[in-house]
Amino acid sequence: MADCDLCSVSIPTVVPVRVFVPRFENSYPEGIWKGLCEPCLKAAKETADRFTTFSASGTVGKCDLCSAVAQLQPVQISRPSFSKGEEEDTAMLCKKCLAAVQEADKSWQRQKEKEQHEHH
Ligand SMILES: [Zn+2]
Ligand SMILES: [Zn+2]
Repeated sequence: MADCDLCSVSIPTVVPVRVFVPRFENSYPEGIWKGLCEPCLKAAKETADRFTTFSASGTVGKCDLCSAVAQLQPVQISRPSFSKGEEEDTAMLCKKCLAAVQEADKSWQRQKEKEQHEHH
């Protein structure tokens, strides 16, 4: 089992997203792998797509994925909640992480297609 790095849900497979953590820049110049569940990936990708179209300025804060202080865009997610089943929440992601999510989504879709072909 793996945990989603945004909503912390436990699922068998998370989608790998490569992010660059400023804090780990020296030890991990190639970036580190984070994992997102599919709903979070989709939500973040939609935000990323909107962001590239409108280039909204965003609010400055700490990115929920790479912990960098940057201009952030809100991503609507739902967290697993013990009382309500799930709870709406907003994750804040920086531009770099949103770009990483778009990349991750592309390769994830490709991989899914490939798997489908292999199974038929
Ligand atoms: Zn998630
Ligand atoms: Zn980030």
